[in-house]
Parts: sequence; structure tokens; C-alpha cells
Amino acid sequence: MRCPFCGADDTRVVDSRLANEGGQVRRRRRCGVCDERFTTFEVAELTMPRVIKSNNAREPFNEQKLRGGIMRALEKRPVTIEAIEAALNRIHKHILISGEREVSSAFIGELVMGELRQLDEVAYVRFASVYRRFNDVEEFRSMIDRLEQDERDSSIPSTLSPP
Ligand SMILES: [Zn+2]
Repeated sequence: MRCPFCGADDTRVVDSRLANEGGQVRRRRRCGVCDERFTTFEVAELTMPRVIKSNNAREPFNEQKLRGGIMRALEKRPVTIEAIEAALNRIHKHILISGEREVSSAFIGELVMGELRQLDEVAYVRFASVYRRFNDVEEFRSMIDRLEQDERDSSIPSTLSPP
């Protein structure tokens, strides 16, 4: 690993630890030439499946899009970045263990809603209202009713499977 400060090849790992629920290895490195320290994150390279959109078009999995949608829903909500990263990790894991080469955007949307529902109900409703594009007030209200009904049920949607 080359030093990002001076470009020297002589850098050494001074500390390694697991991060993000064991999904990453965080390494502290020190440059033997300029003595600067820096951090690297190591993640397994796994190929995310392609995404089938509602109009049947295929597109590459877009991490920024997923993250952006979640961050928008959680704007100004009292949720830590660690909790968000953990949720993103679980979504990735779910998509990967589905073992499919292509997954529908609806499947990903349901995973996101499942996670948001655990994190913050306001964010969940925000995301769901944009994602599901409620046709009328009735539809929106019935979702809120269901939400209140299921309030005590805090189980993770482990029954989700790709369509
Ligand atoms: Zn250096």
C-alpha cells in the first residue's frame, strides 16, 4: 500500500480491527518514510446483482442511489451514522444471499422499508410514500393504520424473498 502523503511504498500496518459488524477490516498504517499515519478499509469484493427496474430495464446496482434514498428519508432524524451503515450492510447481505444475478428494484425497496421501519418510523413513512407513490389519501392512511397496528411487532422482515 503506497503512502498517500509522500508516495513511498514503505508503509506498515500498525493496527487491524473489524469494523461494521465484521464486514470490514479497518487498518491503521504508518509510512516508514514520512511517518504519516492513515487508515484503510478492506472489504470482500462481491458482485452485486443487476437491478431490474419496474419498466423491465436492467441497470447495474447503484450504491449511491441506495444510500441516497436512505439518507434522504432519514434527513434530520435522530439516527446515528453507525445504525445507518449497519442497515446498509444488512441490505447488501440480503441482496447477496439471494444468490440471484438480477434482483427487482421492488425487492430492494422492500428491504429498505424493512430497515427504515426498524430505524425510524418517520423515515419509513417518508420513504414509503415516495417509493410506493400513493395514489390517494386512503391508501396512505391505510398504511399508517397498519403501521400503528404492527407497532408491537418489531420483527425483522426475514421472510422477504425475491419475487
Ligand atoms: Zn509517506
